Amino acid sequence: MSKNLDTAWALAWIRGAQEAMAEHRMELIDLDREIGDGDHGENMDRGFKGAVQKLEGGANSIQDVLKAVAQTLMAKVGGAAGPLYGTAFMRMAKAAAGDSLDSQGVVAMLAAGLEGIQARGKATTGEKTMVDAWAPACEAAKAAADGGADPAAVLRAAAAAAAKGAADTIPMLATKGRASYLGERSIGHQDPGATSTAYILAVAADAAEANEAPEEAA
Ligand code: ADP
Ligand code: MG
Repeated sequence: MSKNLDTAWALAWIRGAQEAMAEHRMELIDLDREIGDGDHGENMDRGFKGAVQKLEGGANSIQDVLKAVAQTLMAKVGGAAGPLYGTAFMRMAKAAAGDSLDSQGVVAMLAAGLEGIQARGKATTGEKTMVDAWAPACEAAKAAADGGADPAAVLRAAAAAAAKGAADTIPMLATKGRASYLGERSIGHQDPGATSTAYILAVAADAAEANEAPEEAA
């Protein structure tokens, strides 16, 4: 049975993202120390804590949730990632305008996020950025939805592809962002932004699967 995603899912997603950013804060800091300035874990942890705070009173729609996240990330997360994720969440909010999201709605939402990142950062795949997680995630989501997968399975496919995409950044030479200053020395390290993207999409799938689980008998 396919279950469309609703506002409760969106709130659970963002709470999950906050927990994931807190849990992986040091790992993201360490990855960013290797090829950047070491602030990515701190930035993302602060941003999603702020987003959860802003959403404490609840929200009326998926769009409201994603818009609140976008505004908070823009305001609280510095560096490259704040505006990039902020734009992604703003575009996803616009794409997720209805009461709920079906499988193709999820695909459209993720595609809008990727478009926002690329409009802002001008990176394409293979440049060792978060685009290398988002782009395969979007492709996998579309393939899953076209094959009849329900929204939770579409998100799970996206998350798995993002995780593989993040791992696949290790041998890449960075040609965008701070890591590009390192030239050849950027090779051999996993991109922090691609890594945070994989975690964020994984908890989107977790929240959808929890949303889908049969209600416990009272
Ligand atoms: P900063 O590099 O300003 O310190 P962060 O450390 O928070 O910002 O984020 C770094 C991440 O941002 C990188 O790992 C990469 O994934 C992403 N990034 C940087 N520049 C771009 C870009 N032009 N397009 C897409 N992603 C980018
Ligand atoms: Mg950094």
